Amino acid sequence: MAITDAPYTNNILLQGYDRLGIRSVADLIRHYPARYEIRPDHTPIASLTHNANGSTSGTLTSSRWVAGWGRAKGRFEAVLQDDSESLRLVWFNSPFLRDKLHPGITIAVTGKVKRSNGFLEMVNPRWSELAGDQTDPDEASPPIRPVYPTTEGLTSDRIAGHIKRTLDWALPHVQDPIPESLRSKQNLLPLDRTFDLIHRPQSEDDYKAARRRLAYNELILLQLGIQLKRAHTHHRYASPAIESSERVDQRIRDRLPFTLTPAQDHAVRQIAQDLATPVPMNRLLQGDVGAGKTLVAVYAMLLAASQGWSSALMAPTEVLAVQHYQRLAELLRDAELPVDLVTAGIDTPTLTPDNPRLLVGTQALLNREGITDRIALVIIDEQHRFGVRQRGHLRQTTQTSATGVLQKIHRPHQLVMTATPIPRTLALSLFGDLDVSTISQPPSGRRPIRTVVSPPQQIDIVHADILKRVAAGEPGFIVLPTIDDQGDDDQTAKGVEARARQLMNSPLGEYGIEIAHGRMTPAQRAAAMKAFSNGRSRVLVATTVIEVGVDVPDAGWMVIEQADRFGLAQLHQLRGRIGRTTGDKPCICHLIAQPTTDQGQQRMAAITQSTDGFKIAELDLQIRGMGEFYGTRQAGASPLRMATLPDDEALLKLAGRDANDIIKSDPSLSNPEHKLLRKVLERQLGENIDLIDIA
Ligand code: ADP
Ligand code: MG
Repeated sequence: MAITDAPYTNNILLQGYDRLGIRSVADLIRHYPARYEIRPDHTPIASLTHNANGSTSGTLTSSRWVAGWGRAKGRFEAVLQDDSESLRLVWFNSPFLRDKLHPGITIAVTGKVKRSNGFLEMVNPRWSELAGDQTDPDEASPPIRPVYPTTEGLTSDRIAGHIKRTLDWALPHVQDPIPESLRSKQNLLPLDRTFDLIHRPQSEDDYKAARRRLAYNELILLQLGIQLKRAHTHHRYASPAIESSERVDQRIRDRLPFTLTPAQDHAVRQIAQDLATPVPMNRLLQGDVGAGKTLVAVYAMLLAASQGWSSALMAPTEVLAVQHYQRLAELLRDAELPVDLVTAGIDTPTLTPDNPRLLVGTQALLNREGITDRIALVIIDEQHRFGVRQRGHLRQTTQTSATGVLQKIHRPHQLVMTATPIPRTLALSLFGDLDVSTISQPPSGRRPIRTVVSPPQQIDIVHADILKRVAAGEPGFIVLPTIDDQGDDDQTAKGVEARARQLMNSPLGEYGIEIAHGRMTPAQRAAAMKAFSNGRSRVLVATTVIEVGVDVPDAGWMVIEQADRFGLAQLHQLRGRIGRTTGDKPCICHLIAQPTTDQGQQRMAAITQSTDGFKIAELDLQIRGMGEFYGTRQAGASPLRMATLPDDEALLKLAGRDANDIIKSDPSLSNPEHKLLRKVLERQLGENIDLIDIA
């Protein structure tokens, strides 16, 4: 594609394009239509139907400009006639039509048809002239019109014109990175033809085929990138091989306070397998809050310790690090594995093979001198963040065992724990360099949660419902998106403080109401939490601060106000705060919302119908699309534009297999037919990958 990367230098055309992110010819050609308008078939005028889109053609019998107030204001009127009937045409504020639409010429028109006062009429129709040898209306106006994303001053039609003119000269210069052999195997269009058809399709099949090719392109590049990265890691880095045995395994299990659940057991086996080889583990352990991930982590750390290796557990904040430290110290009381909290003011303890330890801290810990040398395993607890992007900033040391020719760089095995379920298809595509273990069932059956949606007008009914539960001794949460938004009345009280004030004066007030939000001091918040968790107050009105850290197992109900302002995954996360004890008595989660958009309604339906975090994550992805899924999780922009998941899963798998075949047969992409692919990848991956390095 070399030549099309030249800047798009026509100054007149450049206006507005920068706002669309278009800076080169290649960008322009990759500005794909957002959708297509299908032109109705041409019919005689008499066959046009009222209130429907129609296309027809005929001869103009009259035309005139009716001036209005102000320059260019007014309307251009014309009458179109064929053998069957006549059609009135009106264009508003288009004086320039005077120079174009003269009586006697033949034109084709497309637009919405109205019948008023017995006359057929089209307002602001699209038109094209049938002149010279072009007498077929189907040819004069294309059957499918691309509609482009626009910006101020650039209409879709203008963009279409620019693209059309650019394609005319640029297409012959387009080079295709996908080798011909692969294209014919997967029945993919060549790239030049693809660009042509995505912008100028003659049929639905045309743009579908073009779309498929472009989606495949994105997916195979992604897969190649991921697989090359993996190959690169294997080639350059080594982690200690920590072999287990039945005896070691049994000893570790004996030390754990619980028998592992089947899901934990499965995860533990996968991790033990990873640790047994010098290939650095890069695994994601996902499971809802309370799924029992910590025990899996503890197993892995004990396994490392059994061979004299220390481990490090990283938390996102210092507060969470302290919590982890306390829990682990308790869990490992009898396990002969010293646990150290390492924070800013504390020195790193000495790590030796006879003295393996478990260090707990924030990620800053990894930057300490000499730490990673004696650490075999780093466990990162991401909590709710999707921060897969932050991975991999481990300090690398050059200390290696000098086996073989190549000096591999020591790197600890990595396990990332997350409570944010990542949809399977996303995990497969974007984080394909991660292996994933999933704990989908918590250790013990939790209380079932029923979720219902009520409109804001019914908030009193909801409050009456929870009053019954509160009176029966059951604590619970009221969650609002804002702190001190006042609202107009009780029903629309929008913030934590307004809602709490209102409830204190209601029958619920008798049972004690606490508030918690991010603007309180830690001491104030701690006091409120304490009153709530020891049962003195049974209602906690809070912002999403309760997402992390509040653990009141008896809590059996939750009200989430303005629920449509939260993401699906977040609603699920919040809901996970209740029903944390075993039992059959159902918990209730009231969502207060009255969504008006399709999307909003779909989301509310999804959350009421499922309590499976993975299903919800996949639905979230399906409903909101990848872009948004990314945005809210600060994981950077999605590299996919044409491909959409989960819809393109089949194509993703195909691309994954093809990428694998390519790398197997030509790991450094030095084969001439992969030359372009290599160039594109080098640009995409930047210096992250030294392709030459991969043997
Ligand atoms: P996560 O880290 O995934 O949020 P935790 O590891 O904190 O979950 O576990 C949640 C709760 O379940 C804890 O109270 C823990 O002690 C308990 N737990 C974990 N594993 C088991 C098990 N195998 N059997 C019984 N209880 C368990
Ligand atoms: Mg946890």
